[in-house]
Amino acid sequence: MTETVDAPSATRIPHWIGGRRLDGGSGRSGPVYNPATGRQSGAVDFASAEEVDAAVQAAQDAYPAWRATSLAKRAELFFRIRELLHARRDEVAEILVREHGKVFSDALGEVTRGLEVVEHCCGIPTLLKGEHSEQVSTGIDVYSIRQPLGVVAGITPFNFPAMVPMWMWAPAIACGNCFVLKPSEKDPSASLWTAELLREAGLPDGVFNVVMGDRVAVDAVLEHPDIAAVSFVGSTPIARYVYEKATASGKRCQALGGAKNHMIVLPDADVDAAADAAVSAGYGSAGERCMAVSVVVAVGDVAQPLVDAIRDRIPKVRVGDGMDPSSEMGPLVTREHRDRVASYVENAPGEGATVVVDGREGVPAEGFFLNPSLLDGVTPQMKAYEDEIFGPVLGVTRVGTYEEALGLVNDSPYGNGVAIFTRDGGAARQFQFDVQAGMVGINVPIPVPVAYYSFGGWKSSLFGDLHVYGPEAIDFYTRGKVVTQRWPDPATSRVDLGFPQTR
Ligand code: NAD
Repeated sequence: MTETVDAPSATRIPHWIGGRRLDGGSGRSGPVYNPATGRQSGAVDFASAEEVDAAVQAAQDAYPAWRATSLAKRAELFFRIRELLHARRDEVAEILVREHGKVFSDALGEVTRGLEVVEHCCGIPTLLKGEHSEQVSTGIDVYSIRQPLGVVAGITPFNFPAMVPMWMWAPAIACGNCFVLKPSEKDPSASLWTAELLREAGLPDGVFNVVMGDRVAVDAVLEHPDIAAVSFVGSTPIARYVYEKATASGKRCQALGGAKNHMIVLPDADVDAAADAAVSAGYGSAGERCMAVSVVVAVGDVAQPLVDAIRDRIPKVRVGDGMDPSSEMGPLVTREHRDRVASYVENAPGEGATVVVDGREGVPAEGFFLNPSLLDGVTPQMKAYEDEIFGPVLGVTRVGTYEEALGLVNDSPYGNGVAIFTRDGGAARQFQFDVQAGMVGINVPIPVPVAYYSFGGWKSSLFGDLHVYGPEAIDFYTRGKVVTQRWPDPATSRVDLGFPQTR
């Protein structure tokens, strides 16, 4: 939705092109809110196609010098970026709280997980090492190298305004590319903060650019002939759209979509540990995580004790403004999103589910709050099961057997994260063998891989072949080249029209 913003006290949030802030000239902008108060705090410029082109041009101008910058200098710069980010992480965490709504400790956690990707990129000289085979034939050697793509772009969602961009810009830039970021228009300020920090660290102007905006900016990125690759993270319908449009115009694309993450609890699991995990992973960040647990699948007679244990924990979750150190869960990102999430609680009885805890009760009048909600008896035919709710609504689905639980996960159109809680090592091992999902937790409810592995789901949770960050990011942001070399003695040279032989 495009809105013209007229809140007089709203801070203008411009683009970042060629190493400086640049006010947008399209005349279009969108409101940014503090979700804890419900009041508008900012107005973010929406880029036109011409402004996206200006960012791509700045990136192209910076590219020849950046790709020629030595690995030693790139590594040194990444160490400086790491130090600055670490020293100033409280600043960006506060920006996240004020625009996204998550609590400060969670915002710090987001920055720290993003920082791990930057730390991994400090090892870029090692990550870009190729292979060498000496004497593949007499006097002939072969070696492989990886080279950057050129100008690459990232389009990111609202729920991790600092970390998800770090998943992209850090490996892309470390590999020698120049980057154009189109962040979420709901909480864009962390990207500007990042741009200024990268400049302070010594990144040359034009290597990192930010275009603010909506669909117009996204389409301009997808259609731009000088953008070689696009990384996207967001909801599944937009991920599919981005993947299809980007690849149709010849770009490399990885598009990560939505999720419906199941947490299976087997009858032998420790009920208290499973309930702690379900509450933490279901309501942390108000459920606005692509790896949040959304449905707990209770197998056999663990169901009732588990529902009781989750219900008993919910009143202890402290909901409030994310800057209040006592808050454990903040508001949702916008009023519309809060109302949409609440509608699943409203409609649950009509669909046949039981509302065990109704989070619509007792919410503050100001802000976009919704308290944790628990639904029991959720079945696969219900909207509360089918849809990615993306809020603090946890559903419990009761099944009789492990096979039924596995079938639920494998029949889901999504395949992002999944978890199993059990004390049976054999059952857990069988599960990791059988399950169709990209990231599996065994007694770990949110199995986000560490930075030296790669992150990504299966099925409609990821379009494309390569996952983000870790080793697969190096492959995504570079192209392979294989060199065959010979330094012959001119005296032995002769014409030979035969196909080159190695023996
Ligand atoms: P979204 O799909 O609405 O927006 C993502 C990006 O796409 C934003 O930059 C937005 O401006 C742009 N966009 C939105 N509508 C568009 C349109 N019609 N055409 C072109 N561009 C458009 O997602 P969101 O609400 O910001 O984020 C939440 C979603 O992201 C959830 O579905 C969540 O699961 C998903 N997510 C997935 C992962 C993952 O790793 N798989 C990680 C984080 C978030």
